[in-house]
Amino acid sequence: MSEITAIPDDLRRQLPAVATLLDHPHLDDLRQRVGERALTRAIRETLATWRARLGAGATERPNEETLVAAIRGVVEARRRLNTRPVFNLTGTVIHTNLGRSPLSESAIEAVVEAARHPVALEYDLAAGRRGDRDRLVEGLLVELTGAEAATVVNNNAAAVLLALTALGAGREAIISRGEMIEIGGAFRMPDVMTTAGCRLIEVGATNRTHARDFQQALGEESGLIVKAHASNYHVEGFTSSVPEAELADIAHAHGIPFMIDLGSGALTDFRALGLPHEARPAEAIAAGADLVTFSGDKLLGGPQAGIVVGRRELIAKLKSHPLKRALRCDKLTLAALEATLRTYRDSETPERDLPTLSMLTRPVMEIAAQAERLLPIVRRTLDGIAEVDVRPCRSQLGSGSLPVDRLDSEAMVLTVSRGRELARLERALRRLPRPMIGRVHEGALWLDLRCLDTTAEEQAFLDQLEQLPTYWREAA
Ligand SMILES: *Cc1c(COP(=O)(O)O)cnc(C)c1O
Repeated sequence: MSEITAIPDDLRRQLPAVATLLDHPHLDDLRQRVGERALTRAIRETLATWRARLGAGATERPNEETLVAAIRGVVEARRRLNTRPVFNLTGTVIHTNLGRSPLSESAIEAVVEAARHPVALEYDLAAGRRGDRDRLVEGLLVELTGAEAATVVNNNAAAVLLALTALGAGREAIISRGEMIEIGGAFRMPDVMTTAGCRLIEVGATNRTHARDFQQALGEESGLIVKAHASNYHVEGFTSSVPEAELADIAHAHGIPFMIDLGSGALTDFRALGLPHEARPAEAIAAGADLVTFSGDKLLGGPQAGIVVGRRELIAKLKSHPLKRALRCDKLTLAALEATLRTYRDSETPERDLPTLSMLTRPVMEIAAQAERLLPIVRRTLDGIAEVDVRPCRSQLGSGSLPVDRLDSEAMVLTVSRGRELARLERALRRLPRPMIGRVHEGALWLDLRCLDTTAEEQAFLDQLEQLPTYWREAA
Protein backbone atom coordinates (compact mmCIF):
# COMPACT_ATOMS: atom_id res chain seq x y z
CA MET A 1 0.00 0.00 0.00
CA SER A 2 1.46 3.36 -1.02
CA GLU A 3 1.85 6.34 1.35
CA ILE A 4 -0.90 8.26 -0.43
CA THR A 5 -3.60 5.69 0.04
CA ALA A 6 -2.47 4.64 3.54
CA ILE A 7 -5.42 4.55 5.89
CA PRO A 8 -5.12 6.68 9.04
CA ASP A 9 -4.65 3.59 11.23
CA ASP A 10 -1.38 2.80 9.47
CA LEU A 11 -0.16 6.36 9.76
CA ARG A 12 -0.99 6.35 13.44
CA ARG A 13 0.99 3.16 13.87
CA GLN A 14 3.95 4.79 12.14
CA LEU A 15 4.23 7.46 14.86
CA PRO A 16 7.38 6.90 16.92
CA ALA A 17 7.15 5.26 20.34
CA VAL A 18 7.32 7.33 23.52
CA ALA A 19 10.63 5.71 24.46
CA THR A 20 12.17 6.59 21.09
CA LEU A 21 11.33 10.26 21.49
CA LEU A 22 12.43 10.26 25.11
CA ASP A 23 15.91 9.31 23.94
CA HIS A 24 15.91 11.72 21.02
CA PRO A 25 19.22 13.66 21.07
CA HIS A 26 17.40 16.95 20.31
CA LEU A 27 15.41 16.58 23.50
CA ASP A 28 18.42 15.93 25.74
CA ASP A 29 18.61 19.50 27.03
CA LEU A 30 14.89 19.61 27.73
CA ARG A 31 15.09 16.37 29.66
CA GLN A 32 17.93 17.79 31.76
CA ARG A 33 15.96 20.93 32.42
CA VAL A 34 12.46 19.65 33.23
CA GLY A 35 13.08 16.01 34.12
CA GLU A 36 11.95 12.75 32.60
CA ARG A 37 8.44 12.81 34.00
CA ALA A 38 7.51 16.18 32.57
CA LEU A 39 9.10 15.28 29.25
CA THR A 40 7.23 11.96 29.05
CA ARG A 41 3.96 13.74 29.73
CA ALA A 42 4.66 16.24 26.95
CA ILE A 43 5.58 13.45 24.51
CA ARG A 44 2.36 11.56 25.30
CA GLU A 45 0.31 14.71 24.85
CA THR A 46 1.99 15.50 21.53
CA LEU A 47 1.52 11.96 20.22
CA ALA A 48 -2.11 11.97 21.31
CA THR A 49 -2.68 15.23 19.43
CA TRP A 50 -1.19 13.71 16.28
CA ARG A 51 -3.10 10.48 16.64
CA ALA A 52 -6.30 12.51 16.85
CA ARG A 53 -5.29 14.58 13.83
CA LEU A 54 -4.56 11.48 11.76
CA GLY A 55 -7.79 9.93 12.96
CA ALA A 56 -9.64 13.03 11.83
CA GLY A 57 -8.32 12.67 8.30
CA ALA A 58 -4.85 14.25 8.25
CA THR A 59 -2.96 12.46 5.49
CA GLU A 60 0.61 13.28 6.36
CA ARG A 61 2.66 11.79 9.15
CA PRO A 62 4.73 14.32 11.12
CA ASN A 63 8.49 13.91 10.82
CA GLU A 64 10.65 13.78 13.94
CA GLU A 65 11.62 17.42 13.65
CA THR A 66 7.98 18.49 13.74
CA LEU A 67 7.34 16.27 16.73
CA VAL A 68 10.35 17.57 18.64
CA ALA A 69 9.23 21.17 18.04
CA ALA A 70 5.71 20.32 19.16
CA ILE A 71 6.99 18.58 22.30
CA ARG A 72 9.06 21.64 23.15
CA GLY A 73 5.97 23.78 22.64
CA VAL A 74 3.94 21.60 25.01
CA VAL A 75 6.65 21.74 27.69
CA GLU A 76 6.91 25.53 27.42
CA ALA A 77 3.14 25.99 27.48
CA ARG A 78 2.80 23.81 30.60
CA ARG A 79 5.45 25.83 32.37
CA ARG A 80 3.73 29.14 31.71
CA LEU A 81 1.63 30.54 34.54
CA ASN A 82 -1.97 31.45 33.88
CA THR A 83 -1.18 34.70 35.67
CA ARG A 84 1.65 35.49 33.25
CA PRO A 85 2.31 39.04 32.12
CA VAL A 86 0.74 40.41 28.94
CA PHE A 87 1.34 43.58 26.99
CA ASN A 88 -1.41 46.12 27.44
CA LEU A 89 -1.57 47.80 24.04
CA THR A 90 -5.30 48.48 24.26
CA GLY A 91 -4.93 52.20 24.87
CA THR A 92 -6.77 51.88 28.17
CA VAL A 93 -4.19 52.64 30.83
CA ILE A 94 -6.01 51.37 33.92
CA HIS A 95 -7.53 48.25 32.39
CA THR A 96 -9.64 46.26 34.84
CA ASN A 97 -9.50 43.09 32.73
CA LEU A 98 -5.72 43.35 32.63
CA GLY A 99 -5.28 43.84 36.37
CA ARG A 100 -5.31 47.66 36.51
CA SER A 101 -2.19 49.34 37.94
CA PRO A 102 1.24 47.73 37.68
CA LEU A 103 3.12 48.33 40.93
CA SER A 104 6.10 50.60 41.52
CA GLU A 105 9.53 49.07 42.14
CA SER A 106 9.37 49.89 45.84
CA ALA A 107 5.92 48.30 46.13
CA ILE A 108 7.18 45.18 44.33
CA GLU A 109 10.10 44.92 46.75
CA ALA A 110 7.76 45.30 49.69
CA VAL A 111 5.51 42.53 48.36
CA VAL A 112 8.44 40.16 47.82
CA GLU A 113 9.79 40.75 51.35
CA ALA A 114 6.36 40.34 52.92
CA ALA A 115 5.78 37.19 50.90
CA ARG A 116 9.06 35.64 51.97
CA HIS A 117 8.98 36.42 55.70
CA PRO A 118 6.63 36.73 58.62
CA VAL A 119 5.61 40.38 59.13
CA ALA A 120 4.06 42.15 62.10
CA LEU A 121 0.69 42.18 60.41
CA GLU A 122 -1.50 42.24 63.48
CA TYR A 123 1.19 42.61 66.06
CA ASP A 124 2.08 45.85 67.78
CA LEU A 125 5.88 45.81 67.84
CA ALA A 126 6.13 48.72 70.29
CA ALA A 127 3.80 47.24 72.84
CA GLY A 128 4.51 43.58 72.18
CA ARG A 129 0.89 42.57 71.86
CA ARG A 130 -1.84 41.96 69.31
CA GLY A 131 -2.38 44.88 66.96
CA ASP A 132 -4.61 46.02 64.12
CA ARG A 133 -3.58 45.41 60.49
CA ASP A 134 -4.96 48.77 59.38
CA ARG A 135 -2.24 50.44 61.47
CA LEU A 136 0.29 49.54 58.79
CA VAL A 137 -1.19 52.13 56.45
CA GLU A 138 -3.55 54.20 58.56
CA GLY A 139 -1.00 56.85 59.53
CA LEU A 140 -0.05 57.41 55.90
CA LEU A 141 -3.67 57.61 54.77
CA VAL A 142 -4.48 60.10 57.51
CA GLU A 143 -1.50 62.22 56.55
CA LEU A 144 -2.30 62.13 52.83
CA THR A 145 -6.03 62.84 53.08
CA GLY A 146 -6.44 64.94 56.20
CA ALA A 147 -8.96 62.45 57.58
CA GLU A 148 -9.00 61.35 61.24
CA ALA A 149 -8.81 57.62 60.60
CA ALA A 150 -8.74 54.98 57.87
CA THR A 151 -9.45 51.33 57.18
CA VAL A 152 -8.68 49.13 54.19
CA VAL A 153 -10.58 46.23 52.61
CA ASN A 154 -10.39 44.04 49.51
CA ASN A 155 -11.59 46.60 46.94
CA ASN A 156 -13.70 49.70 46.67
CA ALA A 157 -16.89 47.72 46.09
CA ALA A 158 -16.20 46.06 49.46
CA ALA A 159 -15.49 49.45 51.03
CA VAL A 160 -18.86 50.80 49.87
CA LEU A 161 -20.67 47.65 50.99
CA LEU A 162 -19.01 47.75 54.41
CA ALA A 163 -19.69 51.45 54.94
CA LEU A 164 -23.33 51.18 53.89
CA THR A 165 -23.87 48.08 56.03
CA ALA A 166 -22.19 49.49 59.12
CA LEU A 167 -23.89 52.89 58.92
CA GLY A 168 -27.14 52.31 57.09
CA ALA A 169 -28.46 48.77 57.65
CA GLY A 170 -32.14 48.96 58.56
CA ARG A 171 -32.23 52.67 57.82
CA GLU A 172 -32.63 54.92 54.80
CA ALA A 173 -29.79 55.82 52.48
CA ILE A 174 -30.52 58.94 50.48
CA ILE A 175 -28.95 59.38 47.06
CA SER A 176 -29.54 61.53 43.98
CA ARG A 177 -31.20 59.89 40.95
CA GLY A 178 -28.27 61.23 38.95
CA GLU A 179 -25.90 58.94 40.83
CA MET A 180 -27.58 55.54 40.62
CA ILE A 181 -24.48 54.25 38.95
CA GLU A 182 -23.42 50.90 37.58
CA ILE A 183 -19.65 50.42 37.70
CA GLY A 184 -19.56 47.22 35.68
CA GLY A 185 -20.09 43.61 36.55
CA ALA A 186 -22.75 43.39 39.22
CA PHE A 187 -21.83 46.57 41.05
CA ARG A 188 -24.88 48.80 40.84
CA MET A 189 -25.40 51.37 43.53
CA PRO A 190 -29.08 50.52 44.14
CA ASP A 191 -28.28 46.79 44.39
CA VAL A 192 -25.37 47.36 46.75
CA MET A 193 -27.58 49.50 48.96
CA THR A 194 -30.20 46.79 49.10
CA THR A 195 -27.57 44.14 49.83
CA ALA A 196 -26.28 46.32 52.66
CA GLY A 197 -29.77 46.32 54.13
CA CYS A 198 -30.41 50.01 53.48
CA ARG A 199 -33.73 51.31 52.25
CA LEU A 200 -32.94 53.28 49.15
CA ILE A 201 -34.41 56.76 48.94
CA GLU A 202 -33.85 58.32 45.53
CA VAL A 203 -34.20 62.06 45.23
CA GLY A 204 -34.18 64.58 42.39
CA ALA A 205 -34.05 63.73 38.69
CA THR A 206 -31.45 62.12 36.47
CA ASN A 207 -30.01 65.44 35.35
CA ARG A 208 -30.87 67.75 38.24
CA THR A 209 -30.98 67.38 42.00
CA HIS A 210 -31.38 70.27 44.44
CA ALA A 211 -30.71 70.81 48.13
CA ARG A 212 -34.46 70.90 48.85
CA ASP A 213 -34.82 67.38 47.36
CA PHE A 214 -32.54 66.05 50.10
CA GLN A 215 -34.12 68.18 52.82
CA GLN A 216 -37.60 66.93 51.96
CA ALA A 217 -36.43 63.31 52.06
CA LEU A 218 -34.92 63.55 55.54
CA GLY A 219 -36.85 61.98 58.40
CA GLU A 220 -36.76 59.72 61.44
CA GLU A 221 -35.51 56.75 59.45
CA SER A 222 -32.68 58.51 57.64
CA GLY A 223 -29.36 56.74 58.10
CA LEU A 224 -26.99 58.58 55.81
CA ILE A 225 -26.67 60.68 52.69
CA VAL A 226 -24.61 59.08 49.92
CA LYS A 227 -22.86 60.68 46.98
CA ALA A 228 -21.36 58.53 44.24
CA HIS A 229 -18.78 59.92 41.90
CA ALA A 230 -19.97 59.70 38.28
CA SER A 231 -16.87 57.84 37.27
CA ASN A 232 -17.74 56.09 34.04
CA TYR A 233 -20.18 58.47 32.39
CA HIS A 234 -20.83 62.15 32.00
CA VAL A 235 -24.07 64.11 32.09
CA GLU A 236 -24.02 67.22 30.02
CA GLY A 237 -26.48 70.03 29.30
CA PHE A 238 -29.22 71.13 31.71
CA THR A 239 -27.71 69.68 34.85
CA SER A 240 -27.38 70.55 38.47
CA SER A 241 -26.19 68.78 41.57
CA VAL A 242 -25.74 69.82 45.17
CA PRO A 243 -22.16 70.77 46.10
CA GLU A 244 -20.50 68.40 48.56
CA ALA A 245 -20.08 71.00 51.29
CA GLU A 246 -23.79 71.80 51.15
CA LEU A 247 -24.75 68.12 51.30
CA ALA A 248 -22.46 67.70 54.30
CA ASP A 249 -24.21 70.60 56.05
CA ILE A 250 -27.64 69.15 55.29
CA ALA A 251 -26.63 65.74 56.69
CA HIS A 252 -24.98 67.18 59.79
CA ALA A 253 -27.93 69.47 60.56
CA HIS A 254 -29.99 66.29 60.67
CA GLY A 255 -27.39 64.43 62.74
CA ILE A 256 -26.51 61.80 60.12
CA PRO A 257 -23.26 61.10 58.26
CA PHE A 258 -22.46 62.03 54.68
CA MET A 259 -20.52 59.49 52.66
CA ILE A 260 -18.84 59.90 49.26
CA ASP A 261 -17.89 56.99 47.00
CA LEU A 262 -15.11 58.61 45.00
CA GLY A 263 -14.27 55.55 42.92
CA SER A 264 -10.83 56.51 41.72
CA GLY A 265 -9.52 59.03 44.15
CA ALA A 266 -6.23 60.60 43.10
CA LEU A 267 -3.71 61.34 45.82
CA THR A 268 -1.90 64.00 43.85
CA ASP A 269 -3.03 67.09 41.96
CA PHE A 270 -3.69 65.85 38.43
CA ARG A 271 -3.79 69.33 36.94
CA ALA A 272 -0.22 69.91 38.08
CA LEU A 273 0.71 66.86 36.00
CA GLY A 274 -1.00 68.29 32.93
CA LEU A 275 -3.95 65.89 33.30
CA PRO A 276 -7.65 66.70 33.71
CA HIS A 277 -8.71 67.37 37.29
CA GLU A 278 -9.67 64.30 39.31
CA ALA A 279 -11.38 64.61 42.70
CA ARG A 280 -9.08 63.89 45.63
CA PRO A 281 -10.07 62.28 48.93
CA ALA A 282 -8.49 65.25 50.72
CA GLU A 283 -10.91 67.61 48.94
CA ALA A 284 -13.89 65.45 49.87
CA ILE A 285 -12.77 65.38 53.51
CA ALA A 286 -12.21 69.15 53.47
CA ALA A 287 -15.71 69.62 52.03
CA GLY A 288 -17.11 67.89 55.12
CA ALA A 289 -17.58 64.28 54.04
CA ASP A 290 -17.63 61.91 57.03
CA LEU A 291 -16.52 58.86 55.04
CA VAL A 292 -14.80 58.70 51.67
CA THR A 293 -14.18 55.44 49.79
CA PHE A 294 -11.83 54.88 46.86
CA SER A 295 -9.85 52.19 45.03
CA GLY A 296 -6.20 51.35 45.59
CA ASP A 297 -5.54 50.27 42.00
CA LYS A 298 -7.16 52.99 39.91
CA LEU A 299 -5.57 56.44 39.68
CA LEU A 300 -3.77 55.85 42.97
CA GLY A 301 -1.59 53.32 41.13
CA GLY A 302 -1.29 50.73 43.89
CA PRO A 303 -2.62 47.23 44.58
CA GLN A 304 -6.28 46.24 44.50
CA ALA A 305 -7.77 47.58 47.71
CA GLY A 306 -10.73 49.55 48.98
CA ILE A 307 -9.76 52.47 51.17
CA VAL A 308 -12.11 54.21 53.58
CA VAL A 309 -11.03 57.43 55.26
CA GLY A 310 -13.09 59.62 57.54
CA ARG A 311 -14.26 60.37 61.07
CA ARG A 312 -12.73 58.32 63.84
CA GLU A 313 -15.91 56.98 65.41
CA LEU A 314 -17.37 55.95 62.04
CA ILE A 315 -14.16 54.19 60.99
CA ALA A 316 -14.21 52.41 64.38
CA LYS A 317 -17.71 51.16 63.58
CA LEU A 318 -16.50 49.79 60.25
CA LYS A 319 -13.49 48.11 61.84
CA SER A 320 -15.58 46.29 64.42
CA HIS A 321 -18.26 45.13 61.97
CA PRO A 322 -18.15 41.38 61.22
CA LEU A 323 -18.09 42.11 57.49
CA LYS A 324 -14.70 43.80 57.93
CA ARG A 325 -13.15 40.45 58.78
CA ALA A 326 -14.64 38.91 55.64
CA LEU A 327 -13.43 41.74 53.43
CA ARG A 328 -9.99 42.41 54.86
CA CYS A 329 -6.80 42.40 52.76
CA ASP A 330 -3.77 40.20 53.15
CA LYS A 331 -0.21 41.15 53.99
CA LEU A 332 0.89 41.34 50.35
CA THR A 333 -1.73 43.95 49.55
CA LEU A 334 -0.93 45.95 52.65
CA ALA A 335 2.80 45.82 51.90
CA ALA A 336 2.23 47.11 48.35
CA LEU A 337 -0.20 49.76 49.55
CA GLU A 338 2.13 51.00 52.26
CA ALA A 339 5.02 51.36 49.81
CA THR A 340 2.78 53.14 47.29
CA LEU A 341 1.48 55.58 49.90
CA ARG A 342 5.04 56.26 51.06
CA THR A 343 5.89 57.27 47.50
CA TYR A 344 3.13 59.89 47.62
CA ARG A 345 4.38 61.12 50.97
CA ASP A 346 8.11 61.11 50.30
CA SER A 347 8.80 61.29 46.57
CA GLU A 348 9.27 64.58 44.74
CA THR A 349 8.22 62.83 41.55
CA PRO A 350 5.46 60.26 42.16
CA GLU A 351 4.56 60.64 38.47
CA ARG A 352 7.86 58.99 37.63
CA ASP A 353 7.95 56.39 40.39
CA LEU A 354 4.41 55.06 39.97
CA PRO A 355 3.91 53.30 36.61
CA THR A 356 0.25 54.29 36.29
CA LEU A 357 1.06 57.98 36.68
CA SER A 358 4.09 57.71 34.45
CA MET A 359 2.04 56.09 31.65
CA LEU A 360 -0.67 58.72 32.02
CA THR A 361 1.81 61.59 31.84
CA ARG A 362 3.94 60.18 29.01
CA PRO A 363 4.41 62.96 26.46
CA VAL A 364 2.97 62.11 23.05
CA MET A 365 6.26 63.23 21.47
CA GLU A 366 8.05 60.46 23.32
CA ILE A 367 5.48 57.88 22.21
CA ALA A 368 5.78 59.12 18.62
CA ALA A 369 9.57 58.82 18.73
CA GLN A 370 9.24 55.28 20.05
CA ALA A 371 6.77 54.43 17.28
CA GLU A 372 9.16 55.72 14.60
CA ARG A 373 12.00 53.75 16.15
CA LEU A 374 10.00 50.52 16.21
CA LEU A 375 8.30 50.88 12.83
CA PRO A 376 11.04 49.53 10.51
CA ILE A 377 11.74 46.57 12.84
CA VAL A 378 8.08 45.67 13.23
CA ARG A 379 7.55 46.00 9.45
CA ARG A 380 10.37 43.60 8.80
CA THR A 381 9.15 41.11 11.40
CA LEU A 382 5.58 41.14 10.12
CA ASP A 383 6.53 41.05 6.44
CA GLY A 384 4.02 38.86 4.63
CA ILE A 385 1.64 38.89 7.61
CA ALA A 386 0.44 42.47 7.97
CA GLU A 387 1.07 45.99 6.70
CA VAL A 388 2.34 48.22 9.48
CA ASP A 389 1.83 51.97 9.88
CA VAL A 390 2.08 54.46 12.68
CA ARG A 391 -0.99 56.60 13.32
CA PRO A 392 -2.12 59.02 16.00
CA CYS A 393 -4.74 57.70 18.41
CA ARG A 394 -6.35 58.57 21.73
CA SER A 395 -5.72 56.62 24.92
CA GLN A 396 -8.20 56.57 27.76
CA LEU A 397 -7.53 56.50 31.47
CA GLY A 398 -9.83 53.56 32.11
CA SER A 399 -11.64 51.97 35.05
CA GLY A 400 -14.17 54.72 35.03
CA SER A 401 -11.58 57.36 35.68
CA LEU A 402 -12.24 60.64 33.88
CA PRO A 403 -14.51 58.94 31.33
CA VAL A 404 -14.68 61.75 28.81
CA ASP A 405 -11.05 62.73 28.70
CA ARG A 406 -8.65 61.24 26.18
CA LEU A 407 -4.87 61.43 25.93
CA ASP A 408 -3.10 61.92 22.61
CA SER A 409 -1.03 58.86 21.75
CA GLU A 410 0.45 56.90 18.84
CA ALA A 411 -0.32 53.38 17.66
CA MET A 412 1.21 50.72 15.45
CA VAL A 413 -1.64 49.91 13.10
CA LEU A 414 -1.55 46.38 11.65
CA THR A 415 -3.61 45.84 8.52
CA VAL A 416 -4.22 42.41 6.98
CA SER A 417 -5.40 41.68 3.45
CA ARG A 418 -8.67 39.97 4.34
CA GLY A 419 -11.10 40.51 7.18
CA ARG A 420 -10.86 36.90 8.29
CA GLU A 421 -7.11 37.27 8.83
CA LEU A 422 -7.65 39.98 11.44
CA ALA A 423 -9.04 37.44 13.91
CA ARG A 424 -6.10 35.17 13.08
CA LEU A 425 -3.64 37.97 13.78
CA GLU A 426 -5.30 38.75 17.12
CA ARG A 427 -5.25 35.05 17.97
CA ALA A 428 -1.56 34.72 17.12
CA LEU A 429 -0.69 37.76 19.26
CA ARG A 430 -2.70 36.34 22.16
CA ARG A 431 -0.82 33.03 21.91
CA LEU A 432 2.64 34.55 22.23
CA PRO A 433 4.50 33.49 25.41
CA ARG A 434 3.78 37.00 26.59
CA PRO A 435 0.48 37.80 24.90
CA MET A 436 -0.16 41.16 23.24
CA ILE A 437 -3.59 42.67 23.59
CA GLY A 438 -4.53 45.42 21.15
CA ARG A 439 -7.74 46.97 19.95
CA VAL A 440 -9.65 46.38 16.71
CA HIS A 441 -10.69 49.65 15.13
CA GLU A 442 -11.74 50.45 11.56
CA GLY A 443 -10.86 46.96 10.33
CA ALA A 444 -7.28 47.03 11.64
CA LEU A 445 -5.49 46.03 14.81
CA TRP A 446 -4.25 49.04 16.78
CA LEU A 447 -1.39 48.65 19.23
CA ASP A 448 -1.38 51.82 21.35
CA LEU A 449 2.18 52.34 22.57
CA ARG A 450 1.36 54.54 25.58
CA CYS A 451 1.78 51.64 28.03
CA LEU A 452 4.94 50.27 26.41
CA ASP A 453 7.70 51.48 28.69
CA THR A 454 10.72 52.62 26.68
CA THR A 455 13.41 51.18 28.89
CA ALA A 456 12.07 47.95 30.31
CA GLU A 457 9.42 46.84 27.86
CA GLU A 458 10.46 47.84 24.39
CA GLN A 459 13.03 45.09 23.89
CA ALA A 460 10.69 42.49 25.38
CA PHE A 461 8.03 43.65 22.91
CA LEU A 462 10.40 43.17 19.96
CA ASP A 463 11.59 39.79 21.24
CA GLN A 464 8.01 38.57 21.44
CA LEU A 465 7.09 39.94 18.05
CA GLU A 466 9.99 38.07 16.52
CA GLN A 467 8.23 34.85 17.43
CA LEU A 468 4.97 35.91 15.82
CA PRO A 469 5.50 34.21 12.42
CA THR A 470 5.48 30.78 14.15
CA TYR A 471 2.27 31.55 16.01
CA TRP A 472 0.75 33.07 12.89
CA ARG A 473 1.26 29.80 11.02
CA GLU A 474 -0.28 27.84 13.87
CA ALA A 475 -3.21 30.22 14.19
CA ALA A 476 -4.36 29.58 10.61
C1 LIG B 1 -14.48 51.66 40.41
C2 LIG B 1 -15.56 52.12 41.29
C3 LIG B 1 -16.10 51.28 42.26
C4 LIG B 1 -15.62 49.87 42.45
O1 LIG B 1 -14.29 49.86 42.85
P1 LIG B 1 -13.43 48.48 42.78
O2 LIG B 1 -12.11 48.87 43.31
O3 LIG B 1 -13.43 48.08 41.36
O4 LIG B 1 -14.13 47.50 43.63
C5 LIG B 1 -17.10 51.77 43.06
N1 LIG B 1 -17.57 53.03 42.90
C6 LIG B 1 -17.07 53.87 41.96
C7 LIG B 1 -17.63 55.26 41.85
C8 LIG B 1 -16.05 53.45 41.13
O5 LIG B 1 -15.56 54.26 40.20
